[in-house]
This record gives sequence, C-alpha cells and structure tokens, in this order.
Amino acid sequence: MGWREKTAGLDAEVRDKMSSTESPAWLCEFCNSSGVRLYDLSLGQRRGDMYRCEKCLSCQIKTPFAAADLEEFYRTSYFSEQPWELHKARVLAFDYLEKVRPHVVRAGARNSLALEIGAGYGFFADLVPSKLGMRLDVVEPSQSCRDFILRRHGSGREGKLVESLAELRGCETYDNAFAFHVTEHLQRLGPFLADASAVLRMGGRISILTPNASSKSFINSGERWGWACPNQHYEFLSTKIPPEYFAKFGLRVVECKDVAPASIHYPSMVHAKLHRIRLHRGEPSSQVGKLASKMMTAAATPFAQNREGFSLLPIERTLAAGRSPKDELLLVLEKVAR
Ligand SMILES: [Zn+2]
Repeated sequence: MGWREKTAGLDAEVRDKMSSTESPAWLCEFCNSSGVRLYDLSLGQRRGDMYRCEKCLSCQIKTPFAAADLEEFYRTSYFSEQPWELHKARVLAFDYLEKVRPHVVRAGARNSLALEIGAGYGFFADLVPSKLGMRLDVVEPSQSCRDFILRRHGSGREGKLVESLAELRGCETYDNAFAFHVTEHLQRLGPFLADASAVLRMGGRISILTPNASSKSFINSGERWGWACPNQHYEFLSTKIPPEYFAKFGLRVVECKDVAPASIHYPSMVHAKLHRIRLHRGEPSSQVGKLASKMMTAAATPFAQNREGFSLLPIERTLAAGRSPKDELLLVLEKVAR
C-alpha cells in the first residue's frame, strides 16, 4: 500500500500534518512515476541524492541545489583549458557533427541561422559555417570559455556570443539549435526546454547529445559508470521519456535513440575504473585477485605514461561494442504548433 492510499482515508487536517513532517516523495520530472535512490550527488560541500525513475529509467536529483550556486560553479570553476581537454573537445566536435548532420533542417532560400548552447571551447561552432553552411550564434556560461573563443577568433568571428540562453529569450530566430553534453549538467530539463523552444522558429529543431540513463553499462555499474560523475552530472535522460512530456513545450520527438559515444570518451572511463579499483580493493589475496591486480597494474602503467592515451582503447571499445543500449543518447526535437 503506497503513501497515497494510506492517507486517502484521513481528514484534511491530519493529512496536512503528515505532509509537513515527512520529506516529499521523489517523482519523475518526465512521467511522474516514483523511483529508487541511486547514489550521493555533490556540489562543492553540498550533498544531494540521485534517483532513477522506475518507469522511464531517467535519473534526476531529488532536491535541487540552489540555482545560483550551480550557475556560479559552471561560470567560474568548470573549465580548465588543459591540453588534453582541448584535444578531446576538438575531436568530439567532428563526432557531434556526424551525429546531428542527418537531422539538421534547411531553411530553403533563407539564410539558415543556428545556435549552439553550451559551446565550451567553440570547436563545433567553428565547423558549422563551412560544414553545415549556416551562420551560428553561441551561448556559453563559462567566462574562461568565452575568453578562449574570443582569443582564438579575435574580432573576426561572426555571430553573437552570449552568456545565457535567457539573453535571447523568445526571439524565435533559429532553424537549428545544438546542445552537446549540456543537459546532464542541469537539474531539471523543463526550464531549459521552455527557453530553447522559445528561440526556435516554427519547424526548427534542437539536437541534444547526453549520457544515456538507460544504457546497459550505467544500469550495471551505477555510480562507477564513467559518466556518472556525481559531482557534475545531476540529470540523465532516457529513450523511454514519454513524447507527451516534450509536447508540453511545443516540441515533437523526431529522434530519440542510443548511440555509441566517440572513442575518445573511453580512456577517461578506463582511467576512472582503474583508479577506483586501486582505491577500494586494496591488496586482493586470492589467486584470481592477484592476477586481476597484476593485469590492472600492467594496463595502468602504459596508460599513465600516455597521459590518458589510447593504449587501452581497443579493450574498452571491445567491451562497449557488446553493450546495448549504448552509452550516449541522441534526442532531436522539432518545434510544432501547440
Ligand atoms: Zn520517469
């Protein structure tokens, strides 16, 4: 018997008392179902709880952190311009381009205008004019990323570069919008979709790439999943979110499917796994444990020497190939009349 049934027979006064003393139950943002707690989340010193919806498998934080604290984190501390990060971002731009290219809408004779939300260092933004034949504006909350983009292009860059989507609110200008690995950093998708829908022209599309909550490896490994990142990722979308949820924002689902992440994502996953095993297993005593430990040490050595290089990539790719649903989610939404 659930909480609702238990309280259905009580009068209003008693019911109010109960709800004021019990912490509110978690309900899925997308399908309103209940869920189970997965693991701890953190934002600096603050702690939260990640829940998984039992019905649509998406994952969300139970009680969101203060929006201002989260914004401050992404504005000031998230990006670090490490050589490896820059290299990875450059490689990923091509992977993103190939994944969204089939879903891009063309505006006919009109000059097409696109928007990238959360552009990071701007490598994808660089590709859009030449590869997709569109002008592109950029939203990027991080000051250091905006500086990086400006430094690289000086005053030669065309298109707007703004800090927040709110600055473009309601302009209904864009034929295409892109958000690559952005939504997992949000705590609730709704406000983002409302803003995104409001900047699209009728028939315009937003393409989203994000870790897949319904991925087999995430379901198997939980907090140890390479993309769990409990101190940065607060929401994961799944392929089972009902289309009616998106319809509330005037958006029709064109595509919602699992895709294989770019190879370059995997070295970090391997690195994270090795680190965790070394940290938590200590010195295994069994024969199998000793062998495993030996293999891990052998694997970790060239790995460390190559600065997150590709030494373990074949192993990780082979493992990933057998896992379905895959680790990344492609979601394409089209603005339609409500
Ligand atoms: Zn759900």
